[in-house]
Amino acid sequence: MKYAILSDIHANLEALETVLARCRELAVDSYLSLGDIVGYNASPHECLKIMRSLPIVALVKGNHDEYASNGDTVMAGFNPHAKSAVLWTQNTLSDEERAFLRDLPYKMQVRGTPFTAVHASLDSPSEWGYIFDIHQAMDNFSYQYTQICFCGHSHVPIAYCKKMLARPGEMPVDELKLWSVKPDEEGMMFRSDEADEIVLPIQPGCKYLINVGSVGQPRNRDPRATFAVYDTDQRTLTRYRLPYDIAGTQEKIRSAGLPECLATRLEHGM
Ligand code: ZN
Repeated sequence: MKYAILSDIHANLEALETVLARCRELAVDSYLSLGDIVGYNASPHECLKIMRSLPIVALVKGNHDEYASNGDTVMAGFNPHAKSAVLWTQNTLSDEERAFLRDLPYKMQVRGTPFTAVHASLDSPSEWGYIFDIHQAMDNFSYQYTQICFCGHSHVPIAYCKKMLARPGEMPVDELKLWSVKPDEEGMMFRSDEADEIVLPIQPGCKYLINVGSVGQPRNRDPRATFAVYDTDQRTLTRYRLPYDIAGTQEKIRSAGLPECLATRLEHGM
């Protein structure tokens, strides 16, 4: 059984279609969506329609989904560009689409799997905190009752493991640096126009907190769309990185009259 885990699609149809084409090649059986289907980019209807048509076992709410559907026009903590994209999205979505987003849960334990899905963090899922360090990861692990928790929100892939039996004096939580490797750390082997993958074996005796990165607006200086696939037979989690038609997405952002910086940031992965 293969599960694909997608986060932060952000209304980027070209990235989503590229990712789903790879999922079909990989014979993915089922999907988890970690929130922020909308916001920033210009294809919210199309992305929502596609995500709602997939065989999906978990679909949780992101902060952009929340603000695009709850009528909030203040959006505390949002920068002006993010805010103007959410206001555009609020006006673009139908009543039915807004109701769908508004009713999504903040977190979800997926029956029959070792997974929990959340957009931000399990310790305060509706406050939209970020997980960037081991201490924040430890707070999350306190509320994690499954072996694996998948999260998104920062648009930066990062992975932590917590040993169930740490030796005395040993830090129980480690960052798995392999998962978050950036282009400039990969030396001459890296070509940003090529697809590639990072494989993480899932070990018994450890819990994992995994940020799968962003499909539609990566911010780890790697502009490729990224997502993960968990293979229950191999017990591996693989992060795929795929080039997609960035120019096509930029064109739609400009035609919609969204801020220019939302178009340019896509090619820098920022
Ligand atoms: Zn996001």
